[in-house]
Amino acid sequence: MKFPIYMDYQATTPMDRRVLEAMLPYFTDDFGNAASRNHAFGWKAEEAVDAAREVLAKAIGAEAREIVFTSGATESNNLALKGVAEMYASKGNHVITVQTEHPSVLDTAARLERQGHRVTYLQVKPDGIIDLDVLRGAITDQTILISVMAANNEIGVIQPLEEIGRIARERGVLFHTDATQGVGKIPIDVNAMHLDLVSFTAHKIYGPKGIGALYVRRKNPRVRLAPLLDGGGHERGMRSGTLNVPGIVGFARAVELALAEREAEERRLTRLRDRLRDQIMSGLDRVFLNGHPEKRLPGNLNLSFAYVEGESLMMEMKEVALSSGSACTSASLKPSHVLLALGVSDDLAHSSIRFGLGRFTTEEEVEYVADKVVSAVTRLREMSPLYEMAKEGIDLKTVEWSEH
Ligand SMILES: *Cc1c(COP(=O)(O)O)cnc(C)c1O
Repeated sequence: MKFPIYMDYQATTPMDRRVLEAMLPYFTDDFGNAASRNHAFGWKAEEAVDAAREVLAKAIGAEAREIVFTSGATESNNLALKGVAEMYASKGNHVITVQTEHPSVLDTAARLERQGHRVTYLQVKPDGIIDLDVLRGAITDQTILISVMAANNEIGVIQPLEEIGRIARERGVLFHTDATQGVGKIPIDVNAMHLDLVSFTAHKIYGPKGIGALYVRRKNPRVRLAPLLDGGGHERGMRSGTLNVPGIVGFARAVELALAEREAEERRLTRLRDRLRDQIMSGLDRVFLNGHPEKRLPGNLNLSFAYVEGESLMMEMKEVALSSGSACTSASLKPSHVLLALGVSDDLAHSSIRFGLGRFTTEEEVEYVADKVVSAVTRLREMSPLYEMAKEGIDLKTVEWSEH
């Protein structure tokens, strides 16, 4: 076994060597600008981009012309929300999203609010899934966009996109999904799910960092977007800038591999993930699973260990790369907004760890991590007076704390 062990696959993934191989020629020999229309270097680059666009489109049941390349899902989410808000301002000013979304959606929505839009942030049920009746009730004649993520990056919970899409379509509202954790991991089909805008990125599925895409529906209805960037008018005017050809080629290869191996990978990861969960839970009491037990990504396990700080637990096992709370907010010590939205207490949110399993996770690693978690939590709890009191049956809520 090699150390450190990587178990943070929802933060990013190592690039698959097959992806690197596909990319390499486009850095050196085939370096052309895909927008150079009058020589062979440009044609070759354009050919590679066209082929990649075809692969990405097919992966979600779309057409090549509906794919806009971006720098990643953060940009795609910004372009979807800001682009619709500006373009459809005369139609309405209301956007609906969810409290558990990624910061690149939530912070974009907050900016729209500062600019005069109204935003509804839907609550989720304790399992992390939205309530469709609440969604129906939130739609007004001012609503121009519903944005609900496919699968959550912290707790792995999968939202009912098909049902949401049906509601959006019935009410004539555009539907965007951040499918960064969805494409290549769970089936995504823009027509079956009535999706109008879909964000995704390469580096969560064994492709390179810094390349992503936004699907923009071209018919029934035709979606129009105001661009974030002005310039040469690339990507049908929606995203100016010279295309990242090696990145695009790698993105397509990564998607191709993910789709080809998806079902086998799903079975393998589900088995490993469940084994990790069962082994940890049988070795410890007071461990809580965050998020729906089945409607979640196969490679995601998010657990709270009562009476143990997630940060302390990670310090006890530095040879394993894990995430406490959200990777994106772990620089600050605020509890994860996702866990709070589920109704998890501040204490239990601070006690949470995300285990992210992926393509290169081995059975041996799972065994090692499970044993390590059980011994580390046991050791930390031995030092916790609160845990001792709880075990003796003292209800902590009835204890009167003295000031000091
Ligand atoms: C990682 C992630 C993003 C951001 O993607 P980048 O390509 O890193 O900008 C957005 N949404 C979700 C759900 C993610 O997991």
